[in-house]
Amino acid sequence: MSLAAGYPLIAIPGPSPLPERVLRAAHRISPDIYGTELAATNEHVMAQLKRLAGTTGHLAPYIGNGHAAWEASAANMFHRGDHVLVITSGHFGRSWAQQVNEMGVMVETLDFGALPPEPEALARRLAADRDQIIKAVMVCQTDTASACMADIPALRDAMGDHPALLVVDAIASLGCAPMMMDDWGVDVLISASQKGLMSPAGASFVWFSDRAALRGRTDLTTPYWDWHLRANATPDALWRFWGGTPPVQMIFALDEALRMILDEEGLIAVWARHAALARAVWAAGEAWGQDESGIRLSVADPAARAASVTAMRLPEAEALRAWTAAHCGVTLGIGLGAEDPANALRVAHMGHCSAGMLMGVLGAMQAGMVALGIPHGAGALDAAARAIAEPA
Ligand SMILES: *Cc1c(COP(=O)(O)O)cnc(C)c1O
Repeated sequence: MSLAAGYPLIAIPGPSPLPERVLRAAHRISPDIYGTELAATNEHVMAQLKRLAGTTGHLAPYIGNGHAAWEASAANMFHRGDHVLVITSGHFGRSWAQQVNEMGVMVETLDFGALPPEPEALARRLAADRDQIIKAVMVCQTDTASACMADIPALRDAMGDHPALLVVDAIASLGCAPMMMDDWGVDVLISASQKGLMSPAGASFVWFSDRAALRGRTDLTTPYWDWHLRANATPDALWRFWGGTPPVQMIFALDEALRMILDEEGLIAVWARHAALARAVWAAGEAWGQDESGIRLSVADPAARAASVTAMRLPEAEALRAWTAAHCGVTLGIGLGAEDPANALRVAHMGHCSAGMLMGVLGAMQAGMVALGIPHGAGALDAAARAIAEPA
C-alpha cells in the first residue's frame, strides 16, 4: 500500500522546495517591462542579492543555471591560455574545471578526492608559483556531490599576497551557510536561484570585486556574457541587466524569497536553521551507522560537512530512494559522484526546509529500511529529535 498522497517532500539538493509564497508571487501577468514598477523591483532584488552575499561590489545577473554563471565568469576573468588552479573536492569542482578547460583556459587541479580542501596544500602550490602565472584559485564552498564544505577564509589566508583572484562557487551554500564576500576577500562569487535562494531554476548570479573588474575585457568576453554591461546597467534600462527581456516572473519570485530570507527570518537565523537541521541528519546517519550496518556519512569531520546537504553510503540506497518515493512521497537525492552510486544517496536540507519536513524525510528513510530489510543501527530518529530539541 502506498502512503504517498499528501504534500510531496523533495530532499534533493536542487531544485529545493519552493515556498508557496514564492510560487504565488511569480503567478502574475507581466507588467510593462518599460514601466517603473518592474524596474524598481529589479533594483531592489539586486540590492538584496548583494546583502545576501555580503558585498558592496558588482553584480551581474544571467538567465541561465549555475553552468551559465560558470561560463559567464570565466569569459570575463580569463584570456585563452591563462593558467588557473581549481581546488576540487568532488564532482562539481571537477565539472567546473572541465568546463573552463574546454573554453581554452589551462586548468590545473588541486584534487582532494571527496575530502575537504587543505589550505596548507594551496599555500605550498602558490609558494611554488614564483612567476605568479596562476590567475585564479577556484573552489566550491560546498561541493554538492561529496557534501564537503571548504573553509573559505582559511583558503584566502593560505593565498597570502599571491595576486590570483579567489573565485568561489556558492551555488549550494549561499543562503544556507555563512558567506561574507567582502570581509573574506572573495573576488568572484557565483550562485544560482534554485538552491538556497528558494526560487525556480533559471537565474544565476556573478558578484565581482573591483579587483576582478580591473581585468577588463578578455579574448573570451562576448557581448552577451560581458559582466560590465550587466553590472553597470542603470535602473531605467532593465534589459541591460539581463541582456534582453527580463525574466519577469523570476524577478517576482526572487523578490519574495529574498524578503523571506533577509527581512523576515533573517540571514543569521537562516544559517542557524541550516546548521541545526544538518546536525539532525548527521545524528541520524551516525546512529544508522552503528552495528556494522555499512551506513556511513561521507564526510567524517563534522567541521567539513556542508550545512545544506549530507551524503552517505547506504547499502541498497537506490532501492530505498524508490521505496520512499513510492510509499511516502519523499524524494531523496541520488548518490551523484559516489564511488558506488547505487549504494549512496544524499539528503538535502537546503532552503525552505523545516524541522518537521526534515523529520519526515528521516522517518520515511527509517520506514524504508525496515520495509526493505536494510540493516541499520537503532535510535536514529531519537538522535535526530534530540538534535532538533537542543540545537547547539
Ligand atoms: C547545482 C550546482 C551546480 C550546477 O548548477 P546548475 O544550476 O545545475 O547548472 C554547480 N555547482 C554547485 C556547487 C552546485 O551545487
